[in-house]
Amino acid sequence: MAFTMQEITIVGSSELAIDASVGDGGVNDIADVLTIQTLLNGIPVSLGGSDGGLTLEPEDIVGPQRLIKLEPLIQAIVRFQAMQPGLVQDGRVDPEKNTIKRMRALFRTRRGGGVDSDLVIRPAGPIAGPCNGQGFSAARLKKGAKDWDAIDRRAPIRQFLPVGGRRTLVATSAAGGAVSASISGPKAVVESVKDGKITIVGRLAGEETLEIRHAGHVHTVKLTVRDVLPMAFDIVLLGDDPTSNQSRIADFVSVMSGIVAPIYLNQANVVFSHGNDRVVDKISRSASPFTIDPFRKLTLVGTGEPVGDHIVSDADLIALIRDRTRLTIFLGKIVLKRNPRTVGQGVIGGAWAWFNDTILDTGQRGILPAHEIGHTLGFNHVTALTPGFLMNEFIMPANVIIPCETLADLP
Ligand SMILES: [Zn+2]
Repeated sequence: MAFTMQEITIVGSSELAIDASVGDGGVNDIADVLTIQTLLNGIPVSLGGSDGGLTLEPEDIVGPQRLIKLEPLIQAIVRFQAMQPGLVQDGRVDPEKNTIKRMRALFRTRRGGGVDSDLVIRPAGPIAGPCNGQGFSAARLKKGAKDWDAIDRRAPIRQFLPVGGRRTLVATSAAGGAVSASISGPKAVVESVKDGKITIVGRLAGEETLEIRHAGHVHTVKLTVRDVLPMAFDIVLLGDDPTSNQSRIADFVSVMSGIVAPIYLNQANVVFSHGNDRVVDKISRSASPFTIDPFRKLTLVGTGEPVGDHIVSDADLIALIRDRTRLTIFLGKIVLKRNPRTVGQGVIGGAWAWFNDTILDTGQRGILPAHEIGHTLGFNHVTALTPGFLMNEFIMPANVIIPCETLADLP
């Protein structure tokens, strides 16, 4: 389940090249479009640039609206070509032709704002566990109504730091030159800066800003310092089959300790601990009690829908919770009525989740529980077009990263 974090580049000049054409009639690959946008945004209006005025998101560059969404960028390219002498005004930028060379030259001469040095900042190395994400986020996510649904490429990068814990960032520059670092507030301190390695220590929970200085520029890294969030989980197995009860519980506990727990520990300082297990073989509500047959499907219906033999509602499961300060995980042959393909579910901010452990496939065994448990802890979806995130709506085995911004959803 390893996932390699990309290095975080604070737009160095080596990055400012495109693989294919951008603009009117161009190929318009996402990375190339964003590179041209970065260049134009880093050039003053007086020189034909857009000075931060272009705001395309990666998701604008795919889908049926793309030609409409690309129009402001094409206009900006035409304007740049018109204001700069000697350029063909075709609204298109081709790899290593005159327009991009001119853009790069003007971008490099811009001063201030921390966007024009070669500095690359990255985590110093993996932390033990199936996820080496470290909470170091290139995402710069923005939250919409409830989901983390957009990317702000101009926002500072973020780094998660546990209270009492240490992280080392490595700042490297092709051009060389000294790097210094400072934190003005009390919640974290810079322990050392040596050969571009910046070691910081978390002191108090909250937000702090790390300033990294290099070649006359200030690069800010937002720090999220978090206390340990202890989270005990209890398992309730629905249906009694003495030949398999213990192995089913043990299987799920191993998923929790082997995959789910390290993802959260490394990136969010959530510490899971295994609490009490029990087997429940009766639903004992007043109107229609029944004994749960462990080999028969248990249909889960919505609130207000009729319940009966082997048809249960959320309320039936909630009635089985003994301690709401802990996370209760129901395992059983559960089938969601309104979407029979669902194999597990966690409610945002609820203290419980259920999983059909009899049909969780190998790819889902770790990440689906980790995702659904994320909801129970308060995490909303990340719907911005970003691979690798645990809270992506579409659950895939490589989704393990909890971007630092989203830690704000945790209690
Ligand atoms: Zn979800």
